[in-house]
Amino acid sequence: MALDENSRLRYTMHMHKIHDTAVITSKETLQDHLVLTEEELAFDPSINSSLPLSIPSYFLNLIDPQNPDDPLRKQVVPSVNEQLPDLGAMKDPLAEVSHSVTERLIHRYPARVAFLTTDICPMYCRHCFRRRFTGTFQGPASEKQTEEAAQYVADHRQVTEILFTGGDVLTLSDSRLEQMIRAFRSKRPDLIIRICTRMPASYPMRITDGLITMLKQFDTAPFYLMTQFNHPKELTEQATGAVNRFVDAGIPAMNQTVLLSGVNDEVSVLEDLCNKLLFNRIKPYYLFQGDLVEGTAHFRVPLEKGLALEEELRKRLSGLAMPVYAIDLPNGGGKVPLSRAYLIGKNAENAWLFKTTEGEIRTYPDPLTQR
Ligand code: SF4
Repeated sequence: MALDENSRLRYTMHMHKIHDTAVITSKETLQDHLVLTEEELAFDPSINSSLPLSIPSYFLNLIDPQNPDDPLRKQVVPSVNEQLPDLGAMKDPLAEVSHSVTERLIHRYPARVAFLTTDICPMYCRHCFRRRFTGTFQGPASEKQTEEAAQYVADHRQVTEILFTGGDVLTLSDSRLEQMIRAFRSKRPDLIIRICTRMPASYPMRITDGLITMLKQFDTAPFYLMTQFNHPKELTEQATGAVNRFVDAGIPAMNQTVLLSGVNDEVSVLEDLCNKLLFNRIKPYYLFQGDLVEGTAHFRVPLEKGLALEEELRKRLSGLAMPVYAIDLPNGGGKVPLSRAYLIGKNAENAWLFKTTEGEIRTYPDPLTQR
């Protein structure tokens, strides 16, 4: 969708009004804070397929201005690398468009659906996998779009969970979000709602008493908070405090990290991140291999390296702290876990052969095959 400057401005202002925060939205203002590298300067914001630039001052202040390789900077400062040819990459590798059952509802897996509540985010991550939609300034789902999606969920009882995603659902005002929850829960009181948001990392001050009080009115099926923390530096006191507000209200928190080259593709960084998440009552849930999305090649970690990281993490982390390393297969193939094989096969006695995490071999006789 072509970006219309007026819509861009309107939605940016709307965001500012709701959250009353300073947000950096132009290269010129960014240059007041950071000395841009050649690659960052060469980014051309006029290219339509580009995500907008938006960095809340809270997040900007976490970036070390002296370090051009700061892991937080790499996630949010646009670079010309996103505009280089990216062979094999797609606009919509997860085939969300072809799995859309209403304008804003995606039904890819039998038991869960994803609802695109809005395309707006307070901060646009340069690695975003939903670039085809995110930051296109279409705004929050209309009442009609919400109603259509709610009716679909009401008519498909096999759906037990809905992801409120986007964009960032917490850019909606509390009252707008309340209406949305009510639209679905009034038709399906048993529906589990996942609140998918990067707000605790990008702008934790959004998590107010008012928001939590509003959510607590809904005491039927549970909510789950799905966060995205990619680096331990993001786990500030404000960020963990924001998540703890949900957890204290009975809303469990799960984290989805994206494996990103130059940001977190080191075992010590991931180990630290997962342990800190768990300590702060946020379960490390997924570690995602980068999707084949146009403009994100420079973030993708070779699979061989990802597998080696997973193997080492499995040795170092407790079961609770260990996320599932997973890939969303191209052309809508869906999520599959990634791990080096621990199950090798069977021996001559028909017993299963395993490799331990230390590389030793163990056998496990299967009672049925012994008969
Ligand atoms: S917050 Fe989520 S939807 Fe928004 S840009 Fe980042 S990854 Fe994409």
